[in-house]
Amino acid sequence: METESLKLLIDGGLSARQTLKRLTAIGRRIEDIDAILVSHEHTDHIQGVGILARRFMIPVYTNEGTYRQSHLVMGEVPIRRSFVTGKPFHIHDVLFEPFSLSHDAEDPVGFVIRYGQRKVTILTDLGYVTHLVREKARGSHLLVLEFNHDPEMLKACPYPWPIKQRIRSRRGHLSNEEAGRLLKEVVHQELEYVVLAHLSETSNHPDLALLTAQENISPYTPLLSVAKQHEVGTLLSLTG
Ligand SMILES: [Zn+2]
Ligand SMILES: [Zn+2]
Repeated sequence: METESLKLLIDGGLSARQTLKRLTAIGRRIEDIDAILVSHEHTDHIQGVGILARRFMIPVYTNEGTYRQSHLVMGEVPIRRSFVTGKPFHIHDVLFEPFSLSHDAEDPVGFVIRYGQRKVTILTDLGYVTHLVREKARGSHLLVLEFNHDPEMLKACPYPWPIKQRIRSRRGHLSNEEAGRLLKEVVHQELEYVVLAHLSETSNHPDLALLTAQENISPYTPLLSVAKQHEVGTLLSLTG
Protein backbone atom coordinates (compact mmCIF):
# COMPACT_ATOMS: atom_id res chain seq x y z
CA MET A 1 0.00 0.00 0.00
CA GLU A 2 1.15 3.52 -0.61
CA THR A 3 0.13 7.11 -0.11
CA GLU A 4 2.07 10.26 -1.04
CA SER A 5 4.02 9.96 2.20
CA LEU A 6 4.11 6.28 3.06
CA LYS A 7 4.84 2.96 1.40
CA LEU A 8 4.35 -0.27 3.25
CA LEU A 9 3.94 -3.99 3.06
CA ILE A 10 1.16 -5.73 4.92
CA ASP A 11 2.57 -9.13 5.80
CA GLY A 12 5.46 -10.75 3.99
CA GLY A 13 4.52 -14.34 3.32
CA LEU A 14 6.51 -14.73 0.13
CA SER A 15 10.26 -15.30 0.18
CA ALA A 16 12.33 -12.12 0.24
CA ARG A 17 13.45 -12.86 -3.33
CA GLN A 18 9.86 -13.17 -4.59
CA THR A 19 8.83 -10.01 -2.79
CA LEU A 20 11.66 -8.08 -4.44
CA LYS A 21 10.78 -9.51 -7.84
CA ARG A 22 7.14 -8.56 -7.52
CA LEU A 23 7.85 -5.06 -6.25
CA THR A 24 10.07 -4.54 -9.29
CA ALA A 25 7.27 -5.83 -11.52
CA ILE A 26 5.03 -2.98 -10.34
CA GLY A 27 7.77 -0.37 -10.52
CA ARG A 28 8.42 -0.10 -6.79
CA ARG A 29 11.69 -0.37 -4.86
CA ILE A 30 12.16 -2.16 -1.55
CA GLU A 31 14.44 0.72 -0.48
CA ASP A 32 11.36 2.97 -0.45
CA ILE A 33 9.30 0.75 1.84
CA ASP A 34 8.82 2.50 5.20
CA ALA A 35 7.27 -0.32 7.21
CA ILE A 36 6.11 -3.92 7.28
CA LEU A 37 2.92 -4.58 9.25
CA VAL A 38 2.35 -8.14 10.41
CA SER A 39 -1.15 -9.52 11.00
CA HIS A 40 -0.16 -12.79 12.71
CA GLU A 41 2.63 -15.32 12.95
CA HIS A 42 1.58 -17.99 10.43
CA THR A 43 4.38 -18.71 7.97
CA ASP A 44 2.31 -17.69 4.95
CA HIS A 45 2.37 -14.18 6.41
CA ILE A 46 5.91 -13.80 7.74
CA GLN A 47 8.27 -15.96 5.70
CA GLY A 48 10.13 -13.07 4.06
CA VAL A 49 9.73 -10.46 6.80
CA GLY A 50 12.91 -11.07 8.83
CA ILE A 51 15.26 -11.09 5.85
CA LEU A 52 13.75 -7.96 4.31
CA ALA A 53 13.73 -6.14 7.63
CA ARG A 54 17.39 -6.94 8.29
CA ARG A 55 18.72 -6.36 4.80
CA PHE A 56 16.87 -3.11 4.16
CA MET A 57 16.46 -1.83 7.74
CA ILE A 58 12.68 -1.75 7.49
CA PRO A 59 10.73 -1.24 10.73
CA VAL A 60 8.43 -4.17 11.56
CA TYR A 61 5.10 -3.46 13.28
CA THR A 62 3.46 -6.27 15.27
CA ASN A 63 1.64 -6.76 18.51
CA GLU A 64 3.49 -8.47 21.36
CA GLY A 65 1.86 -11.87 20.96
CA THR A 66 2.59 -12.06 17.26
CA TYR A 67 6.18 -10.95 17.79
CA ARG A 68 6.74 -13.62 20.44
CA GLN A 69 5.34 -16.35 18.23
CA SER A 70 7.04 -15.10 15.07
CA HIS A 71 10.46 -15.12 16.53
CA LEU A 72 11.57 -18.57 15.39
CA VAL A 73 10.76 -17.91 11.73
CA MET A 74 11.45 -14.19 11.63
CA GLY A 75 14.55 -13.99 13.84
CA GLU A 76 15.72 -10.68 15.24
CA VAL A 77 14.58 -7.57 13.42
CA PRO A 78 16.67 -4.41 13.73
CA ILE A 79 13.80 -1.95 14.07
CA ARG A 80 10.80 -3.24 15.95
CA ARG A 81 7.60 -1.31 16.61
CA SER A 82 4.78 -2.57 18.79
CA PHE A 83 1.10 -1.90 18.48
CA VAL A 84 -1.73 -2.98 20.75
CA THR A 85 -4.72 -4.78 19.25
CA GLY A 86 -7.71 -2.46 19.39
CA LYS A 87 -5.58 0.67 19.72
CA PRO A 88 -5.25 2.88 16.64
CA PHE A 89 -1.79 4.21 15.76
CA HIS A 90 -0.28 6.48 13.13
CA ILE A 91 2.60 6.05 10.76
CA HIS A 92 3.14 9.52 9.27
CA ASP A 93 -0.34 10.74 8.34
CA VAL A 94 -1.91 7.31 7.92
CA LEU A 95 -4.07 5.87 10.69
CA PHE A 96 -4.06 2.14 11.39
CA GLU A 97 -6.66 0.33 13.47
CA PRO A 98 -5.60 -3.24 14.23
CA PHE A 99 -8.59 -5.29 15.34
CA SER A 100 -8.98 -8.77 16.72
CA LEU A 101 -9.85 -11.77 14.54
CA SER A 102 -11.03 -15.25 15.40
CA HIS A 103 -8.16 -17.39 14.05
CA ASP A 104 -5.82 -19.98 15.51
CA ALA A 105 -2.87 -17.70 16.17
CA GLU A 106 -1.65 -15.85 19.28
CA ASP A 107 -3.22 -12.43 18.66
CA PRO A 108 -4.27 -12.21 14.99
CA VAL A 109 -5.50 -8.90 13.61
CA GLY A 110 -7.18 -7.32 10.62
CA PHE A 111 -6.37 -3.73 9.70
CA VAL A 112 -8.49 -0.72 8.98
CA ILE A 113 -6.31 1.88 7.28
CA ARG A 114 -7.47 5.47 6.97
CA TYR A 115 -5.93 8.18 4.89
CA GLY A 116 -7.81 11.41 4.29
CA GLN A 117 -11.40 10.41 3.62
CA ARG A 118 -10.44 6.96 2.41
CA LYS A 119 -10.83 3.71 4.28
CA VAL A 120 -9.20 0.39 3.42
CA THR A 121 -9.93 -2.81 5.32
CA ILE A 122 -7.71 -5.88 5.24
CA LEU A 123 -9.58 -8.94 6.36
CA THR A 124 -8.00 -12.36 5.89
CA ASP A 125 -7.40 -15.31 8.19
CA LEU A 126 -10.58 -15.47 10.22
CA GLY A 127 -12.89 -18.35 10.92
CA TYR A 128 -15.86 -16.40 12.04
CA VAL A 129 -17.40 -13.00 11.36
CA THR A 130 -17.87 -11.24 14.68
CA HIS A 131 -19.85 -8.09 15.30
CA LEU A 132 -16.54 -6.22 15.52
CA VAL A 133 -15.42 -7.51 12.12
CA ARG A 134 -18.69 -6.43 10.52
CA GLU A 135 -18.41 -2.96 12.01
CA LYS A 136 -14.80 -2.59 10.89
CA ALA A 137 -15.59 -3.68 7.34
CA ARG A 138 -18.43 -1.20 6.96
CA GLY A 139 -17.79 2.00 5.04
CA SER A 140 -14.63 0.73 3.30
CA HIS A 141 -13.63 2.06 -0.11
CA LEU A 142 -11.34 -0.91 -0.67
CA LEU A 143 -11.96 -4.22 1.01
CA VAL A 144 -9.47 -7.08 0.90
CA LEU A 145 -11.55 -10.05 1.98
CA GLU A 146 -10.74 -13.71 2.48
CA PHE A 147 -12.63 -16.13 0.25
CA ASN A 148 -10.74 -19.18 1.43
CA HIS A 149 -12.59 -22.29 0.40
CA ASP A 150 -15.62 -23.94 -1.02
CA PRO A 151 -16.94 -26.37 1.61
CA GLU A 152 -17.66 -29.11 -0.96
CA MET A 153 -14.21 -28.85 -2.52
CA LEU A 154 -12.69 -28.84 0.95
CA LYS A 155 -14.55 -32.01 1.85
CA ALA A 156 -13.32 -33.72 -1.32
CA CYS A 157 -9.71 -32.49 -1.24
CA PRO A 158 -6.82 -34.67 -0.04
CA TYR A 159 -6.08 -32.75 3.19
CA PRO A 160 -6.03 -34.88 6.35
CA TRP A 161 -9.21 -34.66 8.42
CA PRO A 162 -7.77 -32.58 11.30
CA ILE A 163 -6.64 -29.90 8.84
CA LYS A 164 -10.08 -29.80 7.22
CA GLN A 165 -11.62 -29.44 10.66
CA ARG A 166 -9.21 -26.63 11.51
CA ILE A 167 -10.05 -24.73 8.33
CA ARG A 168 -13.79 -25.08 8.89
CA SER A 169 -13.62 -24.14 12.58
CA ARG A 170 -14.43 -20.77 14.08
CA ARG A 171 -10.70 -20.15 14.36
CA GLY A 172 -9.93 -21.20 10.79
CA HIS A 173 -10.83 -19.54 7.51
CA LEU A 174 -13.91 -18.07 5.82
CA SER A 175 -15.67 -20.07 3.13
CA ASN A 176 -16.89 -18.36 -0.03
CA GLU A 177 -20.41 -18.32 1.39
CA GLU A 178 -19.35 -16.79 4.71
CA ALA A 179 -17.35 -14.10 2.95
CA GLY A 180 -20.22 -13.48 0.54
CA ARG A 181 -22.64 -13.01 3.41
CA LEU A 182 -20.34 -10.44 5.02
CA LEU A 183 -19.90 -8.66 1.71
CA LYS A 184 -23.65 -8.40 1.31
CA GLU A 185 -23.90 -6.74 4.71
CA VAL A 186 -21.16 -4.17 4.16
CA VAL A 187 -21.33 -3.36 0.44
CA HIS A 188 -22.35 0.24 -0.24
CA GLN A 189 -22.31 2.89 -2.91
CA GLU A 190 -18.76 4.08 -2.18
CA LEU A 191 -17.11 0.65 -2.06
CA GLU A 192 -14.84 0.88 -5.11
CA TYR A 193 -12.86 -2.35 -4.97
CA VAL A 194 -13.13 -5.78 -3.42
CA VAL A 195 -10.05 -7.98 -3.61
CA LEU A 196 -10.89 -11.64 -3.01
CA ALA A 197 -7.89 -12.92 -1.10
CA HIS A 198 -6.33 -15.95 0.56
CA LEU A 199 -8.02 -18.45 -1.79
CA SER A 200 -7.02 -22.04 -1.18
CA GLU A 201 -5.38 -23.67 -4.19
CA THR A 202 -6.74 -27.10 -3.29
CA SER A 203 -10.23 -26.30 -2.07
CA ASN A 204 -11.36 -23.29 -4.05
CA HIS A 205 -11.51 -21.94 -7.57
CA PRO A 206 -11.30 -18.24 -8.48
CA ASP A 207 -14.47 -18.50 -10.59
CA LEU A 208 -16.45 -19.93 -7.68
CA ALA A 209 -15.26 -17.20 -5.33
CA LEU A 210 -15.98 -14.49 -7.89
CA LEU A 211 -19.45 -15.86 -8.57
CA THR A 212 -20.26 -15.85 -4.87
CA ALA A 213 -18.99 -12.28 -4.52
CA GLN A 214 -20.98 -11.18 -7.56
CA GLU A 215 -24.16 -12.65 -6.13
CA ASN A 216 -23.72 -10.57 -3.00
CA ILE A 217 -22.90 -7.06 -4.20
CA SER A 218 -26.10 -6.17 -6.03
CA PRO A 219 -27.31 -3.47 -6.56
CA TYR A 220 -23.82 -1.96 -6.18
CA THR A 221 -20.94 -2.36 -8.59
CA PRO A 222 -17.56 -2.42 -6.86
CA LEU A 223 -14.76 -3.78 -9.03
CA LEU A 224 -14.01 -7.37 -8.04
CA SER A 225 -10.61 -9.01 -8.45
CA VAL A 226 -8.97 -12.18 -7.19
CA ALA A 227 -5.53 -12.01 -5.57
CA LYS A 228 -3.36 -14.73 -7.11
CA GLN A 229 -0.62 -16.59 -5.30
CA HIS A 230 1.82 -16.77 -8.19
CA GLU A 231 1.46 -13.44 -9.88
CA VAL A 232 1.40 -9.83 -8.92
CA GLY A 233 -1.95 -8.06 -8.98
CA THR A 234 -2.72 -4.80 -10.72
CA LEU A 235 -2.33 -1.57 -8.79
CA LEU A 236 -5.62 -0.19 -7.57
CA SER A 237 -5.89 3.51 -6.81
CA LEU A 238 -8.39 5.28 -4.66
CA THR A 239 -9.06 8.89 -5.40
CA GLY A 240 -10.20 11.71 -3.16
ZN1 LIG B 1 -2.90 -17.11 6.09
ZN1 LIG C 1 -3.30 -17.69 9.45
